[in-house]
Amino acid sequence: MDQTGGVIMVTGGSRGIGAATCLLAAQGGYAVGVNYQRDSSAAVAVVSRITARGGQAIALQGDVRVELEVQQMFGTLQAAFGPLTALVNNAGILERQARVEEMDMERVRRVFETNVMGSFLCAREAIQRMSTRHGGLGGSIVNVSSRAAVLGSPGEYVDYAMSKGAIDTLTVGLAKEVAAEGIRVNAVRPGIIETEIHASGGDPERASRLGPGVPLGRAGTAEEIAQAILWLLSGTSSYVTGLCLDVAGGR
Ligand code: NDP
Repeated sequence: MDQTGGVIMVTGGSRGIGAATCLLAAQGGYAVGVNYQRDSSAAVAVVSRITARGGQAIALQGDVRVELEVQQMFGTLQAAFGPLTALVNNAGILERQARVEEMDMERVRRVFETNVMGSFLCAREAIQRMSTRHGGLGGSIVNVSSRAAVLGSPGEYVDYAMSKGAIDTLTVGLAKEVAAEGIRVNAVRPGIIETEIHASGGDPERASRLGPGVPLGRAGTAEEIAQAILWLLSGTSSYVTGLCLDVAGGR
């Protein structure tokens, strides 16, 4: 990995895949904005682990659904460390398993607002800051999609799958729109990864139960997703844009 540093925002950086991405990005020389929504202690713990190893990081509270909060957290990151060069749109939610007739629209809106509108808002803010068209340095965006975008999650999370399908479309469209402005846009599609998201999805044992049925024989780890994200951010993927990369053990 020929990462030479830069300034990165990781949304939902306080836990799971986001936290693993923050740690690996710091190791690759990035100054890291560790965004969180509610749990400041988890975000502060990630920052402490980074600074204890001599890295640079700042915890940034902000709800990705709220335009003003998004603007403020990017502004604070840039004031602390300089021009933005990377964004990982990782913040996402999964609600309890349900069939479509049982899903109330408040829930569906919550999922869409966080996973899609949140990613859109952060991408828009990052592009305004990174685009060479607006005097930025250029950069790279990685959106965290899901294998669910392709598999559809029937009978349990079709709202979530739908939101991740939109992330894939956003990735492909933005990649073409900003390619000439020095910005690459890609996505990773994780399979079943061991994080706390499954508890919020009402199925805390999901990763251990479904892991053995994955072709590679196990659930993935947050670090394995972070590795793929860091590759897509790095110069070693310099000719890759608009890609939705499955990191799913063959699932
Ligand atoms: P976790 O539940 O472990 O972490 C979610 C993170 O998102 C937390 O840091 C949380 O912060 C943050 N977050 C949630 N809502 C908001 C919001 N409105 N604004 C800002 N931050 C927010 O999830 P994972 O690490 O498992 O998931 C990360 C991404 O990976 C998600 O997009 C998910 O859909 C995707 N994914 C995960 C898979 C898996 O099997 N784990 C599989 C496929 C995709 P706080 O705690 O402060 O609320």
